[in-house]
Amino acid sequence: MKKIRSIIPTTVVGSHANPSWMWSAINEINSGNYGITDIKETYDDAVDIAILDQTRAGIDIITDGEMRRNNFIQSFYKKMTGLEIREPLRKTGLKSYDSHIRYICKEKITLPNGLGITEEFLYTKKNTHKPIKVTCPGPLTLTIHIRPDQIYKKRLDLAWEFSKIINSELKELVKNGADFIQIDEPSFAIVPGELDEWIKLFNETVKDVHAKIALHICFGNLSSRPRGNRTYKWMFPNLNNANTNQLVLEFANRELKEVEIWQELSPETELSAGVIDVKSFYIETPENVANKIEEILKFGPPEKLLLNPDCGFSQLPRWITKLKLEALVKGSQLIKG
Ligand SMILES: [Zn+2]
Repeated sequence: MKKIRSIIPTTVVGSHANPSWMWSAINEINSGNYGITDIKETYDDAVDIAILDQTRAGIDIITDGEMRRNNFIQSFYKKMTGLEIREPLRKTGLKSYDSHIRYICKEKITLPNGLGITEEFLYTKKNTHKPIKVTCPGPLTLTIHIRPDQIYKKRLDLAWEFSKIINSELKELVKNGADFIQIDEPSFAIVPGELDEWIKLFNETVKDVHAKIALHICFGNLSSRPRGNRTYKWMFPNLNNANTNQLVLEFANRELKEVEIWQELSPETELSAGVIDVKSFYIETPENVANKIEEILKFGPPEKLLLNPDCGFSQLPRWITKLKLEALVKGSQLIKG
């Protein structure tokens, strides 16, 4: 294949891998051995590393690596009022979906200072000239660690509460200059059932948010394991009712299974396709990536395509993450314009 300028933009889904020192620092923070200044410096340094790794690799649209969020959404619960902690159901063995702290609601949930994503964005904006994608968990996904209770009888009641909170955060982000926002809803695939209701929920969450909107649906990635039944097919055509400019979907881990569903997307919706497997230690070659892109392009036009890893890199070591980012960019450059 002849190497030419890449015409299909590359991006990431959200999280970056923690550098080794970050794991030690998190232990120190959790043990109370860091002061406020140490903690701020630690997280700022971690974001700087995420920006550096993506920039060096040549990623076109970067994120802050979600370095300030502990394991995707855990940090948000610490910002909420009205929650009471319950012990994890399983404490032994490999940490996974059943070994997290759970919460119940003692009163109506509030986030007096918001989710803090606007502050994350402002730091990133100050420290890069690259286009930025802001990521934000969707309302359904934010409910995952909270059990329905007297206050919120069903998971959906709670999700509607979060929808209002997220909508205000997104408007604040736009006011501060964010122009590309991705809502993460792996729960669409993990909690089976009421897709039309979730789409209504999603549409209210992004209502009057004047930015490019993406919706990321994957099958879960905790401990590099999926949680949902790995199929998108059942979501179509209804998913086209979601008011999103882009769908961010995972394909690499499933050897491009269901990639033909691109044909079922409404023509104005972009596909941001996973061509790097974040659940594997295998380092893709640029040729592997280019072959995948060519296969994907059988089902839609290059001007509606973006390329990314299947999901965030938080479950991989940083050295592998760097090599996979490089393969993503080099692979995209092998595609003829
Ligand atoms: Zn994901």
